[in-house]
Amino acid sequence: MVTSDFSLIAGKIKPFLVMEILDRAKQLEESGKDIIHLEIGEPDFKTPEVARRAAIEAIEGGLTGYTHSLGLSSLRQAICHHYQKEHNVKITPERIIVSSGTSPLLLLTLATMINPGDEVILTNPSYACYPNFVVFLGGKCSFVDLDPETGFDFQAEKIKKSITNKTKAIIINSPSNPTGMVIKGEELEMLGQFGPKVISDEIYHGLVYEDKARTFLEFSDEATIINGFSKLYAMSGWRIGFAISDERRIRAMQKIQQNFFISASNFGQQAAMAALNNTEQFLPQMLKTYDQRRTLLLEELPKIGFKIHKTPTGAFYILADAREFCKSSYDFAFELLEKTGVAVTPGIDFGQNAEGFIRFSYTNSIERIKEAVLRLKDYLAKR
Ligand code: PMP
Repeated sequence: MVTSDFSLIAGKIKPFLVMEILDRAKQLEESGKDIIHLEIGEPDFKTPEVARRAAIEAIEGGLTGYTHSLGLSSLRQAICHHYQKEHNVKITPERIIVSSGTSPLLLLTLATMINPGDEVILTNPSYACYPNFVVFLGGKCSFVDLDPETGFDFQAEKIKKSITNKTKAIIINSPSNPTGMVIKGEELEMLGQFGPKVISDEIYHGLVYEDKARTFLEFSDEATIINGFSKLYAMSGWRIGFAISDERRIRAMQKIQQNFFISASNFGQQAAMAALNNTEQFLPQMLKTYDQRRTLLLEELPKIGFKIHKTPTGAFYILADAREFCKSSYDFAFELLEKTGVAVTPGIDFGQNAEGFIRFSYTNSIERIKEAVLRLKDYLAKR
Protein backbone atom coordinates (compact mmCIF):
# COMPACT_ATOMS: atom_id res chain seq x y z
CA MET A 1 0.00 0.00 0.00
CA VAL A 2 1.31 3.45 -0.91
CA THR A 3 1.11 5.88 1.99
CA SER A 4 1.79 9.59 1.87
CA ASP A 5 3.08 12.08 4.41
CA PHE A 6 0.61 14.58 3.03
CA SER A 7 -3.13 14.95 3.53
CA LEU A 8 -5.57 14.69 0.65
CA ILE A 9 -6.35 18.38 0.99
CA ALA A 10 -2.70 19.34 0.55
CA GLY A 11 -2.81 17.68 -2.85
CA LYS A 12 -6.10 19.30 -3.84
CA ILE A 13 -5.15 22.97 -3.41
CA LYS A 14 -3.99 24.40 -6.74
CA PRO A 15 -1.17 26.92 -7.17
CA PHE A 16 -2.13 30.52 -7.92
CA LEU A 17 -0.81 30.87 -11.52
CA VAL A 18 -0.24 34.61 -11.31
CA MET A 19 2.32 33.87 -8.59
CA GLU A 20 4.14 31.54 -10.97
CA ILE A 21 4.35 34.33 -13.57
CA LEU A 22 5.55 36.69 -10.85
CA ASP A 23 8.20 34.20 -9.68
CA ARG A 24 9.56 33.87 -13.23
CA ALA A 25 9.39 37.67 -13.73
CA LYS A 26 11.46 38.15 -10.56
CA GLN A 27 13.97 35.57 -11.74
CA LEU A 28 14.36 37.41 -15.07
CA GLU A 29 14.73 40.71 -13.20
CA GLU A 30 17.50 39.23 -11.09
CA SER A 31 19.31 38.24 -14.28
CA GLY A 32 19.18 41.90 -15.39
CA LYS A 33 16.09 41.95 -17.64
CA ASP A 34 13.72 44.94 -17.50
CA ILE A 35 10.26 43.64 -16.62
CA ILE A 36 7.02 45.63 -16.81
CA HIS A 37 4.61 44.27 -14.23
CA LEU A 38 0.99 44.20 -15.37
CA GLU A 39 0.25 40.86 -13.72
CA ILE A 40 -0.14 41.51 -10.01
CA GLY A 41 -3.51 42.51 -8.57
CA GLU A 42 -1.98 44.94 -6.15
CA PRO A 43 -1.94 48.77 -6.16
CA ASP A 44 1.37 50.37 -7.09
CA PHE A 45 0.58 53.41 -4.93
CA LYS A 46 2.24 53.94 -1.58
CA THR A 47 -0.12 53.52 1.38
CA PRO A 48 -1.61 57.00 2.05
CA GLU A 49 0.50 59.12 4.38
CA VAL A 50 -2.30 59.57 6.89
CA ALA A 51 -2.43 55.78 7.37
CA ARG A 52 1.35 55.39 7.61
CA ARG A 53 1.50 58.14 10.26
CA ALA A 54 -1.32 56.59 12.27
CA ALA A 55 0.49 53.24 12.31
CA ILE A 56 3.80 54.79 13.37
CA GLU A 57 2.06 56.69 16.19
CA ALA A 58 0.27 53.51 17.25
CA ILE A 59 3.51 51.54 17.36
CA GLU A 60 5.34 54.33 19.24
CA GLY A 61 2.39 54.54 21.63
CA GLY A 62 2.59 50.84 22.40
CA LEU A 63 -0.56 49.72 20.53
CA THR A 64 1.12 46.47 19.49
CA GLY A 65 -0.97 43.84 21.26
CA TYR A 66 -4.09 41.86 20.41
CA THR A 67 -7.39 43.69 20.03
CA HIS A 68 -10.97 42.58 20.64
CA SER A 69 -11.52 39.51 18.47
CA LEU A 70 -14.18 41.38 16.46
CA GLY A 71 -11.74 44.26 15.86
CA LEU A 72 -11.41 47.74 17.41
CA SER A 73 -14.83 49.15 18.17
CA SER A 74 -13.67 52.58 16.86
CA LEU A 75 -12.80 51.02 13.47
CA ARG A 76 -16.12 49.17 13.37
CA GLN A 77 -17.92 52.47 14.15
CA ALA A 78 -15.99 54.16 11.32
CA ILE A 79 -17.08 51.37 8.94
CA CYS A 80 -20.75 51.92 9.94
CA HIS A 81 -20.35 55.64 9.28
CA HIS A 82 -18.78 54.92 5.88
CA TYR A 83 -21.70 52.70 4.77
CA GLN A 84 -24.21 55.31 5.96
CA LYS A 85 -22.41 58.09 4.07
CA GLU A 86 -21.59 56.19 0.86
CA HIS A 87 -24.60 53.89 0.50
CA ASN A 88 -27.20 55.24 2.90
CA VAL A 89 -27.44 51.90 4.73
CA LYS A 90 -27.55 51.59 8.50
CA ILE A 91 -25.44 48.91 10.15
CA THR A 92 -24.26 48.46 13.74
CA PRO A 93 -20.72 47.58 14.96
CA GLU A 94 -22.06 44.25 16.30
CA ARG A 95 -22.61 43.18 12.70
CA ILE A 96 -18.92 43.64 11.78
CA ILE A 97 -15.85 41.46 12.24
CA VAL A 98 -12.35 42.68 11.32
CA SER A 99 -9.63 40.22 10.32
CA SER A 100 -6.18 40.00 8.73
CA GLY A 101 -7.34 40.76 5.18
CA THR A 102 -10.47 39.62 3.38
CA SER A 103 -8.94 36.21 2.61
CA PRO A 104 -9.39 34.81 6.16
CA LEU A 105 -12.92 36.23 6.14
CA LEU A 106 -13.79 34.26 3.02
CA LEU A 107 -12.70 31.16 4.89
CA LEU A 108 -14.56 32.10 8.10
CA THR A 109 -17.78 32.95 6.26
CA LEU A 110 -17.77 29.76 4.18
CA ALA A 111 -16.90 27.75 7.30
CA THR A 112 -20.17 28.96 8.91
CA MET A 113 -22.20 28.06 5.81
CA ILE A 114 -21.14 24.76 4.31
CA ASN A 115 -20.81 21.16 5.38
CA PRO A 116 -18.80 18.60 3.38
CA GLY A 117 -20.65 17.85 0.13
CA ASP A 118 -22.57 21.14 0.05
CA GLU A 119 -22.48 23.28 -3.07
CA VAL A 120 -21.17 26.80 -3.51
CA ILE A 121 -22.12 28.72 -6.65
CA LEU A 122 -19.29 30.62 -8.35
CA THR A 123 -19.11 32.34 -11.69
CA ASN A 124 -16.70 31.15 -14.35
CA PRO A 125 -14.49 33.16 -14.62
CA SER A 126 -14.00 34.39 -11.05
CA TYR A 127 -11.22 35.12 -8.54
CA ALA A 128 -8.82 32.19 -8.71
CA CYS A 129 -8.70 31.53 -4.95
CA TYR A 130 -12.46 31.05 -4.39
CA PRO A 131 -12.62 27.35 -5.43
CA ASN A 132 -9.73 26.54 -3.12
CA PHE A 133 -11.58 27.89 -0.06
CA VAL A 134 -14.55 25.72 -0.98
CA VAL A 135 -12.43 22.61 -1.60
CA PHE A 136 -10.54 23.18 1.67
CA LEU A 137 -13.85 22.97 3.57
CA GLY A 138 -14.96 19.85 1.72
CA GLY A 139 -17.55 21.69 -0.37
CA LYS A 140 -18.25 21.42 -4.09
CA CYS A 141 -18.10 24.26 -6.59
CA SER A 142 -20.98 24.72 -8.97
CA PHE A 143 -19.88 27.02 -11.79
CA VAL A 144 -22.18 29.39 -13.65
CA ASP A 145 -20.83 30.28 -17.09
CA LEU A 146 -20.32 33.91 -18.03
CA ASP A 147 -20.20 34.54 -21.75
CA PRO A 148 -16.87 35.80 -23.17
CA GLU A 149 -18.63 37.44 -26.13
CA THR A 150 -20.60 39.77 -23.78
CA GLY A 151 -17.49 40.73 -21.81
CA PHE A 152 -18.46 38.20 -19.11
CA ASP A 153 -21.51 40.24 -18.15
CA PHE A 154 -23.10 39.00 -14.92
CA GLN A 155 -26.62 37.57 -15.17
CA ALA A 156 -28.50 36.87 -11.93
CA GLU A 157 -31.01 34.75 -13.87
CA LYS A 158 -28.29 32.18 -14.60
CA ILE A 159 -27.37 32.04 -10.89
CA LYS A 160 -31.04 31.52 -9.95
CA LYS A 161 -31.32 28.61 -12.37
CA SER A 162 -28.27 26.90 -10.82
CA ILE A 163 -29.57 26.91 -7.24
CA THR A 164 -30.37 23.41 -5.91
CA ASN A 165 -31.26 22.13 -2.45
CA LYS A 166 -27.53 21.50 -1.91
CA THR A 167 -26.61 25.17 -2.55
CA LYS A 168 -25.43 26.74 0.69
CA ALA A 169 -23.53 29.75 -0.60
CA ILE A 170 -23.30 31.99 -3.67
CA ILE A 171 -20.18 34.11 -4.12
CA ILE A 172 -20.48 37.29 -6.17
CA ASN A 173 -17.78 39.90 -6.78
CA SER A 174 -18.33 43.43 -8.05
CA PRO A 175 -16.31 45.23 -9.30
CA SER A 176 -14.87 41.96 -10.50
CA ASN A 177 -11.47 40.39 -10.51
CA PRO A 178 -10.60 39.42 -13.29
CA THR A 179 -13.14 41.11 -15.58
CA GLY A 180 -13.27 44.67 -14.18
CA MET A 181 -17.06 44.57 -14.70
CA VAL A 182 -19.54 46.14 -12.27
CA ILE A 183 -22.78 44.23 -11.55
CA LYS A 184 -25.90 46.30 -12.25
CA GLY A 185 -28.34 47.17 -9.45
CA GLU A 186 -31.22 45.25 -11.06
CA GLU A 187 -29.12 42.06 -11.17
CA LEU A 188 -28.25 42.41 -7.47
CA GLU A 189 -31.89 43.08 -6.68
CA MET A 190 -32.82 39.77 -8.28
CA LEU A 191 -30.42 37.95 -5.95
CA GLY A 192 -31.79 39.78 -2.89
CA GLN A 193 -34.23 36.95 -2.13
CA PHE A 194 -31.26 34.57 -1.63
CA GLY A 195 -29.67 37.00 0.85
CA PRO A 196 -28.56 34.58 3.63
CA LYS A 197 -26.67 32.48 1.09
CA VAL A 198 -24.97 35.39 -0.68
CA ILE A 199 -21.35 36.31 0.00
CA SER A 200 -20.72 39.60 -1.78
CA ASP A 201 -16.99 40.23 -2.17
CA GLU A 202 -16.82 44.02 -2.45
CA ILE A 203 -13.06 44.42 -2.06
CA TYR A 204 -12.85 46.57 -5.22
CA HIS A 205 -15.65 48.89 -4.08
CA GLY A 206 -14.79 52.54 -4.66
CA LEU A 207 -12.60 51.65 -7.67
CA VAL A 208 -15.26 52.56 -10.22
CA TYR A 209 -14.86 54.97 -13.11
CA GLU A 210 -18.22 55.35 -14.82
CA ASP A 211 -20.99 54.16 -12.56
CA LYS A 212 -21.24 53.57 -8.82
CA ALA A 213 -20.99 50.04 -7.43
CA ARG A 214 -23.98 49.23 -5.22
CA THR A 215 -23.42 47.26 -2.04
CA PHE A 216 -25.42 44.08 -1.60
CA LEU A 217 -26.41 45.47 1.82
CA GLU A 218 -28.91 47.63 -0.07
CA PHE A 219 -30.66 44.46 -1.22
CA SER A 220 -30.41 42.16 1.79
CA ASP A 221 -29.89 42.47 5.53
CA GLU A 222 -28.93 38.82 5.80
CA ALA A 223 -26.14 38.53 3.22
CA THR A 224 -22.46 38.59 4.13
CA ILE A 225 -20.43 41.46 2.72
CA ILE A 226 -16.66 41.07 2.50
CA ASN A 227 -14.51 44.15 2.09
CA GLY A 228 -11.07 45.37 3.05
CA PHE A 229 -8.27 47.86 2.75
CA SER A 230 -5.91 46.08 0.32
CA LYS A 231 -7.11 47.65 -2.92
CA LEU A 232 -8.88 51.02 -2.59
CA TYR A 233 -6.57 52.16 0.21
CA ALA A 234 -3.36 50.65 -1.23
CA MET A 235 -2.80 48.65 1.95
CA SER A 236 -2.42 45.07 0.67
CA GLY A 237 0.50 44.18 2.95
CA TRP A 238 -1.17 45.55 6.07
CA ARG A 239 -3.63 42.67 6.06
CA ILE A 240 -6.84 44.35 7.22
CA GLY A 241 -10.31 43.34 6.00
CA PHE A 242 -13.82 43.19 7.41
CA ALA A 243 -17.08 41.31 7.01
CA ILE A 244 -20.63 42.49 7.65
CA SER A 245 -23.33 39.93 8.33
CA ASP A 246 -26.15 39.23 10.75
CA GLU A 247 -25.12 39.07 14.41
CA ARG A 248 -25.54 35.29 14.71
CA ARG A 249 -23.19 34.61 11.83
CA ILE A 250 -20.70 37.20 13.09
CA ARG A 251 -20.69 35.40 16.48
CA ALA A 252 -20.02 32.06 14.75
CA MET A 253 -17.19 33.63 12.74
CA GLN A 254 -15.80 35.29 15.87
CA LYS A 255 -15.46 31.93 17.65
CA ILE A 256 -13.44 30.53 14.75
CA GLN A 257 -11.35 33.71 14.53
CA GLN A 258 -10.55 33.57 18.29
CA ASN A 259 -9.11 30.09 17.82
CA PHE A 260 -7.43 30.38 14.42
CA PHE A 261 -6.36 34.01 13.98
CA ILE A 262 -7.03 35.72 17.39
CA SER A 263 -7.27 39.28 16.00
CA ALA A 264 -5.90 41.58 13.33
CA SER A 265 -2.96 43.79 14.41
CA ASN A 266 -3.84 46.87 16.45
CA PHE A 267 -1.58 49.28 14.51
CA GLY A 268 -2.87 47.91 11.19
CA GLN A 269 -6.42 48.65 12.32
CA GLN A 270 -5.40 52.16 13.46
CA ALA A 271 -3.90 52.78 10.00
CA ALA A 272 -7.03 51.46 8.26
CA MET A 273 -9.23 53.71 10.39
CA ALA A 274 -7.13 56.77 9.51
CA ALA A 275 -7.38 55.91 5.80
CA LEU A 276 -11.15 55.41 6.01
CA ASN A 277 -11.67 58.71 7.84
CA ASN A 278 -9.53 60.78 5.46
CA THR A 279 -10.26 59.50 1.96
CA GLU A 280 -10.44 63.01 0.47
CA GLN A 281 -6.66 63.34 1.02
CA PHE A 282 -5.75 60.64 -1.51
CA LEU A 283 -8.69 58.96 -3.25
CA PRO A 284 -9.63 61.51 -5.92
CA GLN A 285 -6.06 61.60 -7.29
CA MET A 286 -5.67 57.79 -7.19
CA LEU A 287 -8.97 57.27 -9.01
CA LYS A 288 -8.07 59.82 -11.66
CA THR A 289 -4.74 58.08 -12.28
CA TYR A 290 -6.28 54.59 -12.53
CA ASP A 291 -8.88 55.94 -14.93
CA GLN A 292 -6.22 57.52 -17.18
CA ARG A 293 -4.41 54.18 -17.37
CA ARG A 294 -7.66 52.33 -18.07
CA THR A 295 -8.54 54.74 -20.88
CA LEU A 296 -5.08 54.32 -22.41
CA LEU A 297 -5.27 50.51 -22.41
CA LEU A 298 -8.85 50.52 -23.71
CA GLU A 299 -7.61 52.56 -26.68
CA GLU A 300 -4.32 50.78 -27.32
CA LEU A 301 -5.01 47.07 -26.70
CA PRO A 302 -7.55 46.64 -29.54
CA LYS A 303 -5.10 48.34 -31.96
CA ILE A 304 -2.54 45.58 -31.36
CA GLY A 305 -4.99 42.69 -31.57
CA PHE A 306 -6.45 42.22 -28.06
CA LYS A 307 -10.25 42.41 -28.31
CA ILE A 308 -12.32 44.03 -25.58
CA HIS A 309 -15.94 42.91 -25.87
CA LYS A 310 -17.40 45.27 -23.29
CA THR A 311 -15.85 48.23 -21.48
CA PRO A 312 -14.75 47.29 -17.96
CA THR A 313 -15.62 50.12 -15.56
CA GLY A 314 -14.19 48.97 -12.23
CA ALA A 315 -11.30 47.48 -10.24
CA PHE A 316 -7.94 47.80 -12.09
CA TYR A 317 -8.27 44.99 -14.60
CA ILE A 318 -8.95 44.46 -18.28
CA LEU A 319 -9.56 40.87 -19.36
CA ALA A 320 -8.78 41.03 -23.06
CA ASP A 321 -9.50 38.44 -25.74
CA ALA A 322 -6.22 37.02 -27.10
CA ARG A 323 -7.73 34.00 -28.88
CA GLU A 324 -6.39 35.36 -32.15
CA PHE A 325 -2.89 34.77 -30.77
CA CYS A 326 -3.18 31.63 -28.67
CA LYS A 327 -5.05 28.55 -27.54
CA SER A 328 -3.26 28.33 -24.20
CA SER A 329 -3.23 31.61 -22.26
CA TYR A 330 -0.72 30.05 -19.86
CA ASP A 331 1.82 29.40 -22.63
CA PHE A 332 1.11 32.78 -24.21
CA ALA A 333 1.63 34.70 -20.94
CA PHE A 334 5.00 32.98 -20.43
CA GLU A 335 5.91 33.62 -24.08
CA LEU A 336 5.13 37.35 -23.71
CA LEU A 337 7.16 37.47 -20.52
CA GLU A 338 10.21 35.77 -22.06
CA LYS A 339 10.12 37.64 -25.38
CA THR A 340 9.01 41.13 -24.34
CA GLY A 341 9.55 41.39 -20.59
CA VAL A 342 5.86 42.27 -20.13
CA ALA A 343 4.28 40.26 -17.31
CA VAL A 344 0.52 39.57 -17.62
CA THR A 345 -1.83 36.98 -16.12
CA PRO A 346 -3.26 34.07 -18.15
CA GLY A 347 -7.06 33.99 -18.21
CA ILE A 348 -7.11 30.28 -17.42
CA ASP A 349 -6.17 31.20 -13.83
CA PHE A 350 -9.77 32.37 -13.41
CA GLY A 351 -11.63 29.52 -15.08
CA GLN A 352 -12.06 27.67 -18.37
CA ASN A 353 -14.28 30.40 -19.85
CA ALA A 354 -11.38 32.86 -19.70
CA GLU A 355 -9.03 30.52 -21.58
CA GLY A 356 -7.47 32.44 -24.46
CA PHE A 357 -7.83 35.72 -22.53
CA ILE A 358 -5.14 37.78 -20.84
CA ARG A 359 -5.67 39.89 -17.73
CA PHE A 360 -3.93 43.27 -17.76
CA SER A 361 -3.64 44.88 -14.35
CA TYR A 362 -3.15 48.66 -14.70
CA THR A 363 -1.20 48.96 -11.50
CA ASN A 364 1.82 50.54 -13.16
CA SER A 365 2.62 54.08 -14.35
CA ILE A 366 1.31 55.52 -17.63
CA GLU A 367 4.91 55.62 -18.96
CA ARG A 368 5.50 51.93 -18.21
CA ILE A 369 2.10 50.95 -19.63
CA LYS A 370 2.92 52.84 -22.85
CA GLU A 371 6.28 51.06 -23.02
CA ALA A 372 4.54 47.69 -22.48
CA VAL A 373 2.11 48.39 -25.34
CA LEU A 374 5.02 49.27 -27.66
CA ARG A 375 6.92 46.10 -26.78
CA LEU A 376 3.82 43.93 -27.31
CA LYS A 377 3.03 45.71 -30.59
CA ASP A 378 6.53 45.11 -32.00
CA TYR A 379 6.61 41.49 -30.92
CA LEU A 380 3.11 40.56 -32.07
CA ALA A 381 3.60 42.24 -35.46
CA LYS A 382 6.53 39.96 -36.30
CA ARG A 383 5.33 36.84 -34.46
N1 PMP B 1 -11.13 38.95 -3.25
C1 PMP B 1 -10.69 39.33 -4.47
C2 PMP B 1 -11.65 39.36 -5.61
C3 PMP B 1 -9.34 39.66 -4.66
O1 PMP B 1 -8.91 40.04 -5.87
C4 PMP B 1 -8.45 39.60 -3.56
C5 PMP B 1 -6.97 39.93 -3.68
N2 PMP B 1 -6.35 39.61 -4.85
C6 PMP B 1 -8.95 39.18 -2.32
C7 PMP B 1 -10.30 38.87 -2.20
C8 PMP B 1 -8.06 39.04 -1.11
O2 PMP B 1 -7.63 40.28 -0.62
P1 PMP B 1 -6.96 40.50 0.80
O3 PMP B 1 -6.84 39.21 1.50
O4 PMP B 1 -5.67 41.17 0.52
O5 PMP B 1 -7.89 41.43 1.53
